[in-house]
Amino acid sequence: MPVPFLDLKAQYKSIKTEVDPVIQSVVETCAFALGPAVEKFEKDFAAYSGAKHCIGVGSGTAALELILRGLEVGPDDEVMTVANTFFATAEAISLVGAAPVLVDCRESDALIDTDKIEEAITDRTKAIIPVHLYGQCADMASINAIAEKYSLYVIEDACQAHGSGFRGKKAGALADAAAFSFYPGKNLGAYGEGGGITTDDDELAKQLRMLRNHGMPEKYKHSIVGSNERLDGIQGAVLDVKLKHLDQWNGGRRTNAALYRKLLSDVPGIILFETHENREHNYHLFVIRVKNRDEVQNKLKEKGISTGIHYPIPIHLQKAYEGVGWKKGDFPVAEKLAGEILSLPMFAELTEGQVREVSEAVAASI
Ligand SMILES: *Cc1c(COP(=O)(O)O)cnc(C)c1O
Repeated sequence: MPVPFLDLKAQYKSIKTEVDPVIQSVVETCAFALGPAVEKFEKDFAAYSGAKHCIGVGSGTAALELILRGLEVGPDDEVMTVANTFFATAEAISLVGAAPVLVDCRESDALIDTDKIEEAITDRTKAIIPVHLYGQCADMASINAIAEKYSLYVIEDACQAHGSGFRGKKAGALADAAAFSFYPGKNLGAYGEGGGITTDDDELAKQLRMLRNHGMPEKYKHSIVGSNERLDGIQGAVLDVKLKHLDQWNGGRRTNAALYRKLLSDVPGIILFETHENREHNYHLFVIRVKNRDEVQNKLKEKGISTGIHYPIPIHLQKAYEGVGWKKGDFPVAEKLAGEILSLPMFAELTEGQVREVSEAVAASI
């Protein structure tokens, strides 16, 4: 039986009676850009994350970019992030005119290697953006300690980490600010594009509310040059409904991940990433490592099982950054993982039978 990588239709069916009326209500009140539904969601998402403020914006990429602008990171600055991330993390740094500085990841968990951060700090370094890749938080204790020592900002790329935890706190409340994506395929996904920023900093929050809306503290008074990165009313309404289900959906993902781990951990040729005590994983993605990755992916495809690769090319080898001077071999762990990683179907509605079917198919393809 075919197994999809993600099934957004199944999720929609399960909340149709809740979500259809709130969309209708936004349409009827015509509060399409920001508005009461967005404000309600911002309040609820801030409370959920344990942060003082949430600012709804147009996308996860916009969230990262606006945080950097809000912290006045710009052309003379360097911002550190990890070599194995979605392109947008580095892109946001480039968009504000700063220079992305990359650090390799750890082979054991694919997260930023905190032992390599200090050696990459220069007197131009302004901020670090750790990425909670696949839904497991980076080692925020070590990162925050280093940042404190060198007076750097820390910005969580929490675009894959809705509801993830670190030592009893949630992603979004672990640093100076955090960027979330509400792209439809994320654990908390809108019905279109969307993003959010969480922070405890009142001044930064105020600045971000202006930055997302043409620098306006009030209508047609522009105090600063901002952007149009408002969150849609419809998205706010949808996200607020979905937020109530997030813990249950993440729980479903964890159950499925636990079964995958049980079925795959002893299969020769498969390596699983380490998960840390006291870091609640939301399993945005369930990623395995196999040496013959392309072959395994093709064999699964022949059986109708959809998989993904997150991500096939590390940041430093992307064409867009050809001019920077990075070369193959600069971040060997990220490069090695890029050739071996395979993301298996993962979503809350995935059945036990499907997890077993995928696991058997993987084991038979090694
Ligand atoms: C999805 C994602 C982003 C970007 O979010 P968009 O909403 O697509 O702009 C940034 N970083 C990571 C790690 C992501 O997974």
